[in-house]
Amino acid sequence: MYDLIIIGGGPAGVSAGVYAARKRLKTLFITKEWGGQSIVSIDIQNWIGTPSIAGDKLANEMKNHLETYANETVSIMSDKTVTDLKKEADGTLTVTLDDNSNHTSQAVLIASGSSRRKLDIKGADTFENRGVTYCASCDGPMFARQDVAVIGGGNAGFETAAQLLAYAKSVTLINRSASFKADPITIEKAQLLAYAKSVTLINRSASFKADPITIEKVLLHPNMTTILNATPTEIIGDKFVSGLRYSTTTGSLKEISVTGIFVEIGMIPNTVYAKNVTDLDAYNRIIIDPWTQKTNTAGIWAAGDCTNIHYHQNNISAGDGVRALEDIYVTLKTRI
Ligand SMILES: Cc1cc2nc3c(=O)[nH]c(=O)nc-3n(C[C@H](O)[C@H](O)[C@H](O)COP(=O)(O)OP(=O)(O)OC[C@H]3O[C@@H](n4cnc5c(N)ncnc54)[C@H](O)[C@@H]3O)c2cc1C
Repeated sequence: MYDLIIIGGGPAGVSAGVYAARKRLKTLFITKEWGGQSIVSIDIQNWIGTPSIAGDKLANEMKNHLETYANETVSIMSDKTVTDLKKEADGTLTVTLDDNSNHTSQAVLIASGSSRRKLDIKGADTFENRGVTYCASCDGPMFARQDVAVIGGGNAGFETAAQLLAYAKSVTLINRSASFKADPITIEKAQLLAYAKSVTLINRSASFKADPITIEKVLLHPNMTTILNATPTEIIGDKFVSGLRYSTTTGSLKEISVTGIFVEIGMIPNTVYAKNVTDLDAYNRIIIDPWTQKTNTAGIWAAGDCTNIHYHQNNISAGDGVRALEDIYVTLKTRI
């Protein structure tokens, strides 16, 4: 029986793990992977105290930080996936893993973050890993000197474009909504990294919400092309991707020739295993009290991107994890 089980090895879970070790809570720390979502980023510039760090290095540093203080207090299980979470009649919590093992604790912190939303159009499944990919830093180099598209105009979309521009022949960025949601620095970075012959930005609707000066700069760049009001409808090809079809608001269907399609259309909270034990909102995010990170189920806390909070950033998740741990500690210690 553990005091606490922490689920997730991103900034929220690792921060909580470090605090749990220092507070000597007997903890089981379970994660599928280390570092969380920004592991794919080539350059993270806003992790406070570290002006610039690659995502994979940040992941190693997080792992190292927890391992340094874990000692005999925090047991670490990595490469494991939680498949179920149950509340027992006596109030304890049981976590089931993908190897069918069960682990019991007084408290659980859910910090399992989010995963990429899959593209749901004709051809997306058929061509996955045959031109359709969800990870630019993993697959980008395979598309050197080729024409590629990025679907999604948020930060992840622009970061992906920035990475691809270093070696692709052209990058087309396709955004379904009315404006790009990326912050100006990310947009600018994408533009400055534009070594490609041409870059096309495709946007579903007629305007952009990003900072006007940055937009102007991006649009003026000779390597960038913007297509507005574009919604992807079909991925075409034979054995591998050869093109992307999209519709415009006037109803006309158009096509671009690309051999790679990088999908960055948002995230889905990793909360399926918790749906029967605590309340989720309409987007499957865990509902929490933001003062304490408590969920609606006694004994279960949640932190970071898997919760129904505004704004998703590494620093925010780390802070949420710490707040949760402080509250867990007080709750467990005042129970006696
Ligand atoms: C491409 C990209 C770039 C980004 N760049 C930045 C940036 O520059 N700066 C910034 O502040 N933020 C950035 N973000 C946002 C930031 O990465 C997230 O806000 C942050 O990672 C959320 O942390 P988290 O700990 O809540 O969840 P996550 O990072 O999603 O971590 C969740 C963890 O839980 C594990 N997990 C998931 N399901 C299970 C399960 N069932 N069982 C066990 N383990 C599980 C995962 O393996 C992972 O380790 C970026 C995001 C993306 C996608």
